[in-house]
Amino acid sequence: MAAPQSETKGAVEFIESLNPNTGEVVGAVPDMTAEQVDAAVERARVAFEEWGGLSFADRREQLVRFRRALAARVDEIAELIHKENGKPKVDAIMEAFMAISHLAHATNRAEKALRPHKVGSGIMANVRAVISYHPLGVVGVIGPWNYPMFTPFGSIGYALAAGNTVVFKPSELTPLVGQLVAEIAAKAISIPNVLQVVTGAGRAGAALAKARVNKIAFTGSAGTGKKVMAAAAENLTPVLMELGGKDPMIVAEDADVDKAAEAAVFGALTNAGQACISVERAYVASGVYDRFVDKVVDEVKKVRVGGDDEANIGAITRPAQVDIIRDHIEDAVAKGATVLTGGADKIRGYFVEPTVLTDVTPDMKIMRDETFGPVLPIVKVQSAEEAIRLANDTVFGLGSSVFGKAGVRDLANRVRAGMTAINSVMVFASMPTLPFGGVGDSGFGRIHGDEGLREFTRTQATAEERFALPMNLLSFKLPKGTYERIRGMIQQLYGGGVADRAGGVLRNLLR
Ligand code: NAD
Repeated sequence: MAAPQSETKGAVEFIESLNPNTGEVVGAVPDMTAEQVDAAVERARVAFEEWGGLSFADRREQLVRFRRALAARVDEIAELIHKENGKPKVDAIMEAFMAISHLAHATNRAEKALRPHKVGSGIMANVRAVISYHPLGVVGVIGPWNYPMFTPFGSIGYALAAGNTVVFKPSELTPLVGQLVAEIAAKAISIPNVLQVVTGAGRAGAALAKARVNKIAFTGSAGTGKKVMAAAAENLTPVLMELGGKDPMIVAEDADVDKAAEAAVFGALTNAGQACISVERAYVASGVYDRFVDKVVDEVKKVRVGGDDEANIGAITRPAQVDIIRDHIEDAVAKGATVLTGGADKIRGYFVEPTVLTDVTPDMKIMRDETFGPVLPIVKVQSAEEAIRLANDTVFGLGSSVFGKAGVRDLANRVRAGMTAINSVMVFASMPTLPFGGVGDSGFGRIHGDEGLREFTRTQATAEERFALPMNLLSFKLPKGTYERIRGMIQQLYGGGVADRAGGVLRNLLR
């Protein structure tokens, strides 16, 4: 199989989408120009005037229609995810399930999460303080290929439910899934252009980042993320960055070892290791290390690689990624790692055999850079302290998992990451109530949950005077002696620890 091909049909350039398992052409999409991307943004702006003005109930009705239409065509969606990405069909329908469940949650939750609410008025006791949330306008979503529906839906579903319109640029490796979803939206939602798709590779993505959208939600590699931020900076467009990871798993001495090993195998290998929250490193307490390694190897041997329906993992979707995976394994072996299963010499074309490595050290690429392949390096640690120190020794901070009993929550709290699964793996991603996002080179901002809804809004603070105070501090007509009175207020309020009843004190002072 080769990288996506670009060909010219008439005056329009097309990009072919290829099946990673077979090399067959699945379809072709236009390689759009900046003008075409700008035109889509303009249409989205017009659509926003109506969509953004709808009541939550009316928007909900439209999004419920969209959700039902997606459910009705889920076989078609799953088939396309399977063909374009290469993952087994059962994984493809699972992905669609998770994406639709997030859309349903965002639809149902938006009104509550974004309801205006009163807050305390501090020292201004005569003022009613309210926080409200309003849609931003047009949100540009740039997506990756590893979860071509689920990942962008973490932005699309929440942005739409919050009242924005969306222009989505799917990865050039999986554009047809994006096109299909937008086509379903266009039929289900009565207002045109609420969700549009623009297709193409870096050029179209860069055009969207430069277009005058009100926010860019980017999911992809840290390198591309930096380019997107630089482009968005030209218009001071805010950005949400969902980037890569190097997720650690910690297995404590008192962990259920079999359960932890099974979770490690699934977490490292599902989607052929091409998940931003894949388990990329395991740190295992010395007392259970041998048992854990044996169980992992047993489980890994049962995992079948292939393009057929019986396979557990498919081909690597992005051809260039195979070279990175091979390089990481070879670098580790050259520096002393032991290969327990798989290995660089077992890579056949775009199919990578699950690879378990031990005797790995922190200087190896496999321990520092995102591998994004079915590889699990395992490290023996002597203490929880050592596990935490090594787990946090990374520029990334996306997901993580911790297995253990006593003290496991404390261990979880000490991992520097956006999400942590306790005695489980990856589970947070499928929970629409939990915010999802990273720190450091894994990005910033949050999708999913109430935070994910608010991420696509503008927060407005409203301060309404309910009654006038005898002494108006917001005026040039201050009476003589104001300096001394304010000085007195400071002493009374903050010099004696009465700040918690500041409102009442202030009212008395101003009488
Ligand atoms: P990528 O950075 O190569 O591409 C991502 C998107 O950016 C694609 O749509 C691409 O066409 C577009 N793009 C490329 N150049 C651009 C430019 N100059 N300006 C604007 N857009 C441009 O990433 P990928 O290989 O598609 O995805 C894999 C990466 O995504 C991994 O690092 C993975 O960890 C990460 N990821 C993160 C999350 C998360 O939620 N944090 C989820 C899934 C994947």
